[in-house]
Amino acid sequence: MKYHIIVYGCQMNFSDSERVCAVLENIRYKKTSNINEADLIVVTMCSVRQSAVDRVQGLTEKFEKLKYKNHKLQTILTGCVLKKDRKIFLEIFDYIIDIKDIKKISEILNKKIIKNTDNYLDITPKYSSKFSASVPIMTGCNNFCAYCVVPYVREREISRPTKEIVFEVKNLVKKGYKEIWLLGQNVNSYKSGKTNFPALLKTINKIPGKFWIRFTSSHPKDFNSEVIAAIATGGKITPYLNLPIQSGDDKVLKNMNRHYTVKDYKNKIKELRKKIPAICLSTDIIVGYPGETKKQFENTLQLFRDIKYDMAYINKYSERKGTAAAKLKDNVSVVEKKRREKALNEVLKQTALENNKKFVGREVEVLVDSKKGSRQFGRTKEYKIVEFNSLAGQANKNLIGKFIKLKIVDATPWKLKAKIK
Ligand code: SF4
Repeated sequence: MKYHIIVYGCQMNFSDSERVCAVLENIRYKKTSNINEADLIVVTMCSVRQSAVDRVQGLTEKFEKLKYKNHKLQTILTGCVLKKDRKIFLEIFDYIIDIKDIKKISEILNKKIIKNTDNYLDITPKYSSKFSASVPIMTGCNNFCAYCVVPYVREREISRPTKEIVFEVKNLVKKGYKEIWLLGQNVNSYKSGKTNFPALLKTINKIPGKFWIRFTSSHPKDFNSEVIAAIATGGKITPYLNLPIQSGDDKVLKNMNRHYTVKDYKNKIKELRKKIPAICLSTDIIVGYPGETKKQFENTLQLFRDIKYDMAYINKYSERKGTAAAKLKDNVSVVEKKRREKALNEVLKQTALENNKKFVGREVEVLVDSKKGSRQFGRTKEYKIVEFNSLAGQANKNLIGKFIKLKIVDATPWKLKAKIK
């Protein structure tokens, strides 16, 4: 029997899908990249953006055609599924399974091999990469930001036992993994027994072996001096941080229910840069939040000029039904949202280029992650993309998953160019 898996969403959804693959392969399903030959199709979805929901709905016709050809085909939807969307999705899928119940896939498919427990995170995943792994440390969220559906689909925060996380990371390092991403909706509020997030970082940092530790997502209200100290003294914890501010205006932040001010955020960045001068920063932004005025948007633009980000993930606000923000009037026009997005991107392009130029002439360590012809790509500790060419005669040498030293010779806003040392 063959299965095909489709993932729409964030790193957490990809990590969830690696556990789904493990469950299916334990009951002897074989993965296929060809949807036409699958007996089972699993979709792991994200509900955060309406576009992901639309993409899942867009599968209806495809599934109907596939089922016409293969009457035994079964389809499962899992991941972040809003309760109110279940009715619509049940018209497309045979089963909808809560991600916490993914061990029940085996029961549903009538093979009762895996013992059922409540903790789906203890499933050993079928990692999709041989050198970079995502390790969930917590799931759920208690914050209820006004625009977000996560607390409704993932429910309240649950932290994974420290022992279990350390065991998983140790095994990965033994297998030769070079990059470990610690994942959670709000990693900074991790708490298991007496272990908080900085203590967890320190414990993982002590695991012997050469590897990098990265983490996401962070909430500015919970990101504190203790985390900064853990990164600064860690060694394996990389000097890269995504700290989503969402807006540079206090009133908008209050409307978003974010529980920090622009001043709080800037103070944290100041401390971070003082303790870790090499830190590179990215953020997440929503432009055109209901009621965001031109003046309030100008504050976000000014924040971009002040902070000088290396990267930003800018989203135009779109309503998600079921959230508090959906009760507000989506009163910023699409054209104005696009203008705001473009204006931020222009500032970002300049600051990212300025920051990247500082790397020119430096020798950096890069974890190689992909290859296109003679062009190879990787990331520095600071999460900068680096492109380099294979040396003559080495075009086929497989460097993927290896650390190499490179000399940076040029910079663009989104990429560094390098030569093999
Ligand atoms: S912190 Fe806010 S944006 Fe992040 S998952 Fe929780 S509710 Fe959503």
